[in-house]
Parts: sequence; C-alpha cells; structure tokens
Amino acid sequence: MALKIEQTAWGVAPVIICDQCGDPIRDARDGNYQWQAGDAEHDPDRPRDGETAMPTRRFAFFTHKACSGPFEQARGGAAEWYAMELSDLLPMLAARLRLVGRV
Ligand SMILES: [Zn+2]
Repeated sequence: MALKIEQTAWGVAPVIICDQCGDPIRDARDGNYQWQAGDAEHDPDRPRDGETAMPTRRFAFFTHKACSGPFEQARGGAAEWYAMELSDLLPMLAARLRLVGRV
C-alpha cells in the first residue's frame, strides 16, 4: 500500500502512489485499489469445523487504471486479483472510520 505524505512549498498532504509505476494518482477517477483474490481452500484464516468465520484481510495496492493490467500480469495474472474504483474506496473508508456526517 503506497500511501505517502507529500511535502511541497504549500504544506503537506497525503498522496496515493501507484504500486506499478511509482507515480502519484492525482485523480481518483484514474485509479483502482486492488487486493489478492486468495485461495479460500488454503486460506489460513478460513473457519475450521465448529469455528466462527473471521474476516480475512488482504493488503491493498493502488494502480492507475492503465497500470492495472501490467501490475496483475507481473503478479500471477488477472485471475489472482480483485480491483475496484479508487473513487469508491474513500466513501467506504470514511464510513468504516465513522467519519460520515462530519465536516
Ligand atoms: Zn501507474
């Protein structure tokens, strides 16, 4: 996950860096977040008999839309990865962090 703090002459601000090309993603509409699909059969977090299912967690990676294909191909192929629009991430993250409704 490439979340960095960028310092400029005007101050500091968080920036998301593409995990494929290393450049900042400046427009959420041009970015994805991705995570490994995983193998449910061999997932060490899968519930065993009599156990309650626990959430599985995967690291998030960020890519420009144009970098998504090369990113996946270099890491096992498209079938190994899920991808969602970066513009969908921030509202969901804000809700998970209880920031919805705050200014
Ligand atoms: Zn990129």
